Amino acid sequence: MIELLSHRGIRDERVLRAMSVVDRHLFVQEPFINRAYEDSALPIGHSQTISQPYTVAYMTECLEMKEGDKVLEVGTGSGYQAVILAEMGARLFTIERHMGLLTQARKIFDKLGYQIVSKCGDGTIGWKEFAPFDRILVTAGAPEIPQPLLDQLNSGGILVIPIGDLDVQNLHVIKRVNDHFEKRETFGFKFVPLIGRKGWR
Ligand code: SAM
Repeated sequence: MIELLSHRGIRDERVLRAMSVVDRHLFVQEPFINRAYEDSALPIGHSQTISQPYTVAYMTECLEMKEGDKVLEVGTGSGYQAVILAEMGARLFTIERHMGLLTQARKIFDKLGYQIVSKCGDGTIGWKEFAPFDRILVTAGAPEIPQPLLDQLNSGGILVIPIGDLDVQNLHVIKRVNDHFEKRETFGFKFVPLIGRKGWR
């Protein structure tokens, strides 16, 4: 899997290292364990998916995270992306709207010994009590950028979020520079929908 990620253009050694030490098969359901190291998204229940490894690696690279950064992830899902970020030294906060998925992810965080702060709720409004964040990563596709997430981004902070319609999204990488935002986009991703007050209804 790591060779494949390098081959597809992932250059950040810290991302490749984290993805080589975290076992992806621990985060997938029993019937899919033999496909855990393929470059594909897999079902995790509740009509949701664990993102494909390339997408996880690319989004993580886009975050340009530093050790000790306070990071908010919206869309815990299986917990795999959260553990990758924690393994890279993030102080990780993660929100999931399905309690069943969060319960399962929390079991894995505990089993692997990662200190990850999590809650069940609507991540489109961020997590005010712990804001501001150095980095925010949204792992579901939104119709537009939720204003609360921009408001909760530290100066110098980076927000990575897929934006588009329900079929296809572009990955937006937004950097806050004092009171303005610089943006770049990468085209053609496919995420499950971000559902909530500032997402899809
Ligand atoms: N990061 C996940 C992983 O590593 O497995 C990927 C999960 S999946 C692609 C996106 C997740 O976002 C789903 O579990 C979905 O339930 C969740 N989600 C959708 N809208 C949400 C919201 N408003 N707040 C929190 N989670 C949300």
